Amino acid sequence: MLDKILRVNLSELKVSTEPVLPEYHTLGGRALTSRIISDEVKANCEPLGGLNKVVLAPGLLAGTTAPSSGRLSVGAKSPLTGTIKESNVGGTAAQALAKFGLKAVVIEGQASEGWYILRIGLDSTGLVRFDELAGKDNYAVAVELRQRYGVKNTVISIGLAGERLYANSTIGVTDVEGNPSRHAGRGGLGAVLGSKRIKAIVIENSSISSFRPSEAFTQGARQLAEAITSNPVSGGALTAFGTAILVNTVNGAGGLPTRNFSDGRFEGVNQISGEKLAETVTNRGGKCGHPCQLGCVIKCSNIYVDQSGNYITSGLEYETLALLGSNCGIEDLDAIARMDRLCDQFGLDTIETGGAIAVAMEGGYLKFGDAQGAIDLVDEMGRGTPMGRLLGQGVQATGRALGVTRIPVVKGQGLAAYDPRAIKGNGVVYATSPMGADHTCGNAMGHPGVDPLKPEGQVDLSRDLQIFCTALDATGLCLFTIFALGGNPNLINIVAILINEIYGTSWNAEDLMGLGVATIAVEKEFNRQAGWTSAADRLPEFFTTETLPSTQTVFDVAEDDMQTIFKA
Ligand code: SF4
Repeated sequence: MLDKILRVNLSELKVSTEPVLPEYHTLGGRALTSRIISDEVKANCEPLGGLNKVVLAPGLLAGTTAPSSGRLSVGAKSPLTGTIKESNVGGTAAQALAKFGLKAVVIEGQASEGWYILRIGLDSTGLVRFDELAGKDNYAVAVELRQRYGVKNTVISIGLAGERLYANSTIGVTDVEGNPSRHAGRGGLGAVLGSKRIKAIVIENSSISSFRPSEAFTQGARQLAEAITSNPVSGGALTAFGTAILVNTVNGAGGLPTRNFSDGRFEGVNQISGEKLAETVTNRGGKCGHPCQLGCVIKCSNIYVDQSGNYITSGLEYETLALLGSNCGIEDLDAIARMDRLCDQFGLDTIETGGAIAVAMEGGYLKFGDAQGAIDLVDEMGRGTPMGRLLGQGVQATGRALGVTRIPVVKGQGLAAYDPRAIKGNGVVYATSPMGADHTCGNAMGHPGVDPLKPEGQVDLSRDLQIFCTALDATGLCLFTIFALGGNPNLINIVAILINEIYGTSWNAEDLMGLGVATIAVEKEFNRQAGWTSAADRLPEFFTTETLPSTQTVFDVAEDDMQTIFKA
């Protein structure tokens, strides 16, 4: 049972444990981070000021034997969007926090100087001044802290991007091998942690688990695992090819962002596809079907190695291949892998980074397809050159500085890798999600029953997906379980049963979706108080006026319809 909240105050350099409020008992993951941010953070606060907070929360099923249930939600007011934000990450952190019975870690205040780590250990928990970590990248931090505290420790850290308060900065989490390859990527939350002067959090690996599953829980978890692994996507394509399987699929649908969203099909697609990635990885002695956390039955991650078999990066994913690949006109898999590694080192979101570089290309700063030039720009972001710092502020800042008018952002956040003219449901999600353009809030790609090229049905589809994904994020189940669970009330009921077995509730599938609805309402209200109105729930104009060559469509879901999305 997760029954404690760890409160870390950087202004007072104090760490304390408190019981979970009764009203938080049945909240977890995104539902809890958004609720705590809403309850404790003034909506109009400066995102990088002392009044903002960072909340880390495992999902409701963390620490249990439910399959693929170890996702961690990170919440704060975002310096990139100015909205409430939940950024979701895999890796080992959620399960590690759950072993300490921690339902959430709330980080507040700001230290006046120095850099700190938060150590969560069996013998002691507290802040440790650790100035020598300043200026180090995520890989170096993970190596140093695991050497000092034990190789099995989980490390959560920020890179140079977070230290420099880039609006594009992530919070890295170590995977099962101890590499900081998993990132709470979206929304610049690394900068919020950096503004508090927390460089890292080290969680001791405890083999002690207090979880004692009931027979009903064990049976339900087994049924879920069977459903997930027997699904052709979550138990087949994702394991074999990772999310990179989407490169060919989205290209086929005409929605693969190409040269700053100026086309939806990329001539070099075969060089960056999931099939090519799997072939390359396998031939070189890397690995496909890799789990980013223990207990994952999908294992969509991979370990990418160079031609000599040396590790470069892990979790080379679809969004990265598209935004740093086709969207920059780059078809060199090794170059994209190098950029992915640099992003992980510096703590940069690959989506925002690829979007910003593509906008810089459109602005004439370098040519589309210039792989080495793009690598150099990511390197500049790490070194903190003036151009690197500009790119570090994200797609919108880069586009404006370079006089680009086609800037693919919603609420200041770069679009994920689905052109909204070809997958219109995703366009509605980008426009109306409380989080800005974020595919993890609901991905309509390949959804049966709704024509992706037509406006009809997209608002209803987007609403259903957003509610479902929010509920999943509350449970801690990985989003990719959606392929098995989506549209299957029996399986969603099983998830509710698992929650009932732990929390003493009597939920069913409807109650779980109700948690999604309630969470989105909390987030929308925070945004309203922060000054956002529904007038901001729209896509950049060029998507509505410029025909996408691959599909011959524009984005034509009516704004009036989108504004009704959560009012029904
Ligand atoms: S499906 Fe992929 S992203 Fe999700 S938990 Fe498993 S390895 Fe991590």
